Amino acid sequence: MTDSILEAVQISRTFTAQEDFTGKIVRSVLRQPKPRSLQALCDVSLTLKTGEVLGVVGESGCGKSTLGRILAGILPASAGHLRFCGQPIFDMDSITRAQTFLKIQMIFQDPMSSLNPRKRVADLISEAPTVHGLISPHEQASFVNDALIRVGLDPNSHSRFPHQFSGGQRQRINIARALAVNPEILICDESVAALDVSIQAQILNVFMQLKAEGNLSFIFISHDLGVVEHLCDRVAILYLGRIVEIGTVETLFKAPKHPYTQALLQEIPRIGTGKRRFNPIRGEIPSPLSPPSGCAFHPRCPHATTQCVRQMPGLREVGQEHLAACHLVHGTVSHLPTELSK
Ligand code: SF4
Repeated sequence: MTDSILEAVQISRTFTAQEDFTGKIVRSVLRQPKPRSLQALCDVSLTLKTGEVLGVVGESGCGKSTLGRILAGILPASAGHLRFCGQPIFDMDSITRAQTFLKIQMIFQDPMSSLNPRKRVADLISEAPTVHGLISPHEQASFVNDALIRVGLDPNSHSRFPHQFSGGQRQRINIARALAVNPEILICDESVAALDVSIQAQILNVFMQLKAEGNLSFIFISHDLGVVEHLCDRVAILYLGRIVEIGTVETLFKAPKHPYTQALLQEIPRIGTGKRRFNPIRGEIPSPLSPPSGCAFHPRCPHATTQCVRQMPGLREVGQEHLAACHLVHGTVSHLPTELSK
């Protein structure tokens, strides 16, 4: 018996621009090079324990949404394995795999574009469980009623269309729709990022309530470390398609080891911390089309050495349930300047 519900083992994903016949002809006539591949994810391994909330954090373009889509079965991985309750998903027959991915549901960032504008709320919520034989047609009305109450919506709104709701209400509909197929894992991809702050708090409360019910495990993808600290048990920090640090919220927020995590944490606004200079991370996240050599963070890292330029650091244990990928951190010993380690 394993206490991990979902395991990603060395997941990689490469995108290559698709060329049509005309494109190939034009390229060969103009003697242009072949389209380059983009490595969105490289050797990402992580474990989601039963009942926990695992945050995945990083800047735009770091591969976190790609990872979420692979974990939810929306995108295929180029390499690696996924295990659900210890069973390898990619080795399952197509029916078992589809049934397994039904237990992993995803909630997207934009609540409007993820709902079919031509369908009424009742149909949006009841469609998947009806198709999958989880409810019969005569149970639909009471099922939708319960689903709307569960996410704090008025059950009398079942015949309305998505455009007749506010952004926060639409996200509640998305949550109700995801919950309708009795998932065991919810993958929330920037699910509160498009909402006003007060509405964000309401949706976060819905997630907290679902977490407290104890039947679900979450992967919470976000660029907002404040929200992650509030909601998650563990956090994985992603940089240019690789995990650079992973640990419990407590250890990672109190004693981050990787310079990128330290820089991200310095950017969180805190109330009552007095005047502190805002130190944004210098430079931009590099293009995954031409990633830097060695440690991908070296062009932005204030501590980069020649070893960092030449050699990619692997993830190493730096504490209990705490891994980081940095040449200057060995076990619990950090050779980084102390003012940045706070
Ligand atoms: Fe910075 Fe080097 Fe550590 Fe990368 S390996 S984070 S460049 S010190």
